[in-house]
Amino acid sequence: MLRGGRVIDPIARIDGLYDVVVIDGRIDAVERAGSIASPEGATTIECAGLWIVPGLIDPHVHLRDPGFPQKETIISGLRAAAAGGYTAVAAMANTYPVNDTPAITRYMLERARAAHAARLLPVAAVTIGLGGRELTDFAAMAETGAALFSDDGIPIDDEAILARAFAEAARVGRGISLHEEDRALTGHGACNAGAVAQRLVVAGIPIAAEARRMRRDLAIAVGSGAPVHLAHVSTAAGLDLVRAARARGAIVTCEATPHHFMLDDQAFARFGPDAKMAPPLRSADDVEAIRAALADGTIDMIATDHAPHDPIAKHRDRLGAHFAGEDEAGPLGPGEADALATAANGVVGLETALGLAIDLMHRGVIDASRMVTLMAAAPARLLRRDGQGTLSPGAHADITVIDPHRAWTVEPAKFLSLSRNTPFRGMSLKGRAAFTIVAGEVVYSLAGAGES
Ligand SMILES: [Zn+2]
Repeated sequence: MLRGGRVIDPIARIDGLYDVVVIDGRIDAVERAGSIASPEGATTIECAGLWIVPGLIDPHVHLRDPGFPQKETIISGLRAAAAGGYTAVAAMANTYPVNDTPAITRYMLERARAAHAARLLPVAAVTIGLGGRELTDFAAMAETGAALFSDDGIPIDDEAILARAFAEAARVGRGISLHEEDRALTGHGACNAGAVAQRLVVAGIPIAAEARRMRRDLAIAVGSGAPVHLAHVSTAAGLDLVRAARARGAIVTCEATPHHFMLDDQAFARFGPDAKMAPPLRSADDVEAIRAALADGTIDMIATDHAPHDPIAKHRDRLGAHFAGEDEAGPLGPGEADALATAANGVVGLETALGLAIDLMHRGVIDASRMVTLMAAAPARLLRRDGQGTLSPGAHADITVIDPHRAWTVEPAKFLSLSRNTPFRGMSLKGRAAFTIVAGEVVYSLAGAGES
């Protein structure tokens, strides 16, 4: 039993002080605080001053397993997720081998059971080997447990393949998540095209690389019947396209990452490879547009795009001295510019996302209820977690207990993730997960959070 916390559940239209009773892995009752006795022999977690919300769900992570155990494994990734307050994460298909067959999906689910942490929701590849030429067996993948389809990391260039993928997604009733990037426009770009790229003397990635591909894909999506989802929207122009496509009747949802709502390309000048990702950190105006869209509903959900990488892949040996994280780097020499352009894309995010979302709340951009919609209710719908994203009686007891006032500093050395590539190191935040509960079992508890 969770006693006396502020329960925030937008689906059940609840926001107030309640007790939550869990029996056999399911929510049994949500009653006004103090109105029911603790069941005989039950474990009680005192939640005074804490928030009790539906378990957070991340629709976009890369767990690198199978294939790259020095970056992350399913076990370490799911434990990092639990430490970040997540009860389930959707694991992308760009592993090695690629998750394009039921055998790989079954391997992922089996490893996840051994983690005793967050749940793993497999994302199946759209095309074999992410090659963009031949569709996977959507029906077989959905049957084995695919919660979503995506070639994330790589855009689907072939329009005919994309149209057929939309038809298959509609047929099996799963969402399809798109990485929107025109690679001809990305070229060898290392960061957003603009003043920062010019100052560092590196090639820039124009806004059109996202907007142009998004416009094409949304045009193909209209009328397809497929639940289309756009990963990591990074630009104001992209958000305008989402609004226009919805007005024309497209079924489209989209996500934004904490790095895109928190940082602009100035952070790239400070952190270099640890602030390099696709799409890149954009301008301050784009950050403002993302924040407004999180508040007004244009953006449906928050996704970490957790992308662990080792220091070698990030070329830290060649770039570490240049990007110490304090001052903005000056112009790079040709060798360094090349090292930066070829450094792996991506940042870790599972253990910082909740703190950063709460930071948005402390700044008045979103309220607590909207945060729960963005991090639990909406991802549950996208990933076909029927009856989840809420604490209604009968739902799986996947619950996140949050201490919204706990002050802490981001120290990558303390991450449960095996990787440390984050531009948030050293940042002071207020608010983090106190308990993460999956199927009624506590899979993470923060030191000092009270249990009796
Ligand atoms: Zn992507």
